[in-house]
Amino acid sequence: MVGGLFQNIKYNLDFWRKNMHINDNVLHSAYKSGVQKVVSCLSTCIFPDKTTYPIDETMIHNGPPHNSNFGYSYAKRMIDVQNRGYFEQHGCRFTAVIPTNVFGPHDNYNIEDGHVLPGLIHKVYLAKENGTALTVWGTGKPRRQFIYSLDLARLFLWVLREYDEVEPIILSVGEEDEVSIREAAECVVRAMDFKGELLFDTTKSDGQFKKTASNSKLKKYLPDFQFTPFERAVKETCDWFCANYAIARK
Ligand code: GDP
Repeated sequence: MVGGLFQNIKYNLDFWRKNMHINDNVLHSAYKSGVQKVVSCLSTCIFPDKTTYPIDETMIHNGPPHNSNFGYSYAKRMIDVQNRGYFEQHGCRFTAVIPTNVFGPHDNYNIEDGHVLPGLIHKVYLAKENGTALTVWGTGKPRRQFIYSLDLARLFLWVLREYDEVEPIILSVGEEDEVSIREAAECVVRAMDFKGELLFDTTKSDGQFKKTASNSKLKKYLPDFQFTPFERAVKETCDWFCANYAIARK
């Protein structure tokens, strides 16, 4: 069960319970039926709130997560605990990847419960249609590393086929590619050629200020991996959404 910041704030208990059930059902069924490899998906939002930067794979359990998503975070951390247990007791190769904020075609574009980029893309679409302003939630100052879903898919396949550790691996663009929410919104505005006004609703939460992750482990394994440039990935995503508005999940 996944959702953006505002969905997490509302349903911490549900996020905890559903994900704990999913974790145990999936991993235990995989063990019982002799599955060779499981790649579970964690997220950089499960790391400790009070931390040093950049965050790396060794720091998952070092302190409480941000209050806004404690349910999701504690449940997801337990996957790492279970993976260790299945390896030590039964020799299973169950591992986990830790992507940063994902976006791309076929995302959940619902404004209320989706993540920031699909939310902004949908809002710009409506603002253009109605001739209104674009309202970005929060101050626009928090910083995020965004990863294009097609890049993440290529990395997932590599993890499935080649990555042999039980320890998790962060799948992220570099620290230098982190952008502010304002910069991300401006990128969507350019991609969709939106000429209206940009407003910031500071009554809405900013969530975690940043969760800058290190991709040095990934770089060690795949020094030549090329990420799609952010501007181009956002443009492709916006074009997909506009061309598929009727069928997009929203
Ligand atoms: P997070 O990265 O786990 O915090 O989750 P999100 O993808 O929901 O990003 C949340 C950040 O984007 C916060 O700083 C929000 O204030 C900001 N934000 C700005 N506009 C929006 C929006 O339309 N939807 C969402 N989900 N977040 C927004």
